[in-house]
Amino acid sequence: MRAIFNRPGPAWRTAALAGAALLMAGCRPSPVAPPRPVARLDPAAVDGERALGEVAALVALGLRDAGTPGAAAAADHIRGRLRAVGVEAEIEEFEDETPFGPRTFRNVVGRLPGRGEGLIILGSHFDTKRGMPDGFQGANDSGSSTGLLIELARVLRAGPVLGPEIRFAFFDGEECLIQYGPRDGLHGSRHMARALVDRQRARDVLAVLVLDMIGDRDLTVMIPRNTHPDLARALFAAAAEEGVRERFRLSPTSILDDHAPFLQAGMPAALLIDFEYGSGPGRNDYWHTAEDTLDKLSAESLTLVGRVVVRFLNGFLH
Ligand SMILES: [Zn+2]
Repeated sequence: MRAIFNRPGPAWRTAALAGAALLMAGCRPSPVAPPRPVARLDPAAVDGERALGEVAALVALGLRDAGTPGAAAAADHIRGRLRAVGVEAEIEEFEDETPFGPRTFRNVVGRLPGRGEGLIILGSHFDTKRGMPDGFQGANDSGSSTGLLIELARVLRAGPVLGPEIRFAFFDGEECLIQYGPRDGLHGSRHMARALVDRQRARDVLAVLVLDMIGDRDLTVMIPRNTHPDLARALFAAAAEEGVRERFRLSPTSILDDHAPFLQAGMPAALLIDFEYGSGPGRNDYWHTAEDTLDKLSAESLTLVGRVVVRFLNGFLH
């Protein structure tokens, strides 16, 4: 397997090794270049209040069940928000089979060009679970990660141009209609993973980081077992740098979410999810209920996760 994650190492080490190789080959070594300063993203630029405002604006649109006018309106809204923060964005519409026949899905994709060294995908689904009661907001699932991703688009757009291209992927159809299977659920992420493979771009993907349910006031972020180990290590390191390592845990179980199709296609992928979203410790009783409302979220949680993601991205600068 190829190394897919490089911690930022001192440039002199590579240069010194290259010099040693030249000496061994009998050539005159070139002078060792001093390390070049690397532009970095500022984690403090992430504004959880802005992210929470984005969640509120999305939730105000109403239900966003895949294949409904509500989802189409949400996709338009997300594209508009990306463009408003200066990120090039498109809606990628496609048909896919479901247990109820073919449906139309819409991924929203924002792109920040890099300097031509690989591709990093930051993902969140934006659809709501079908069959929820009247007034269902889906504030944490999937508003929180969608709002934070829009805020991260703003922060990254305002920051220095990075080596890798950054793609903001807002997936439609993550939720299943009946039960997860080849024709049910994860429609948007399966579509994007397939397209990357078909266009022979899968090998350029350095990381796919999917966020889901990361806005709970009482935040404990799980990294599930089916996460690429290099990315899990990098995420824990980023959390430690931010001083919030105790909020992140490795889950002993795998979780089926939008990162899974990328893993299955051989791309390094990771998921951050707080799957304890409920009325008490260890409970998840707000999930997929009318209780999943804005008042359960906090700007602090969105800030915390956003800053860890920024530190994680800084790990790819070298
Ligand atoms: Zn859900």
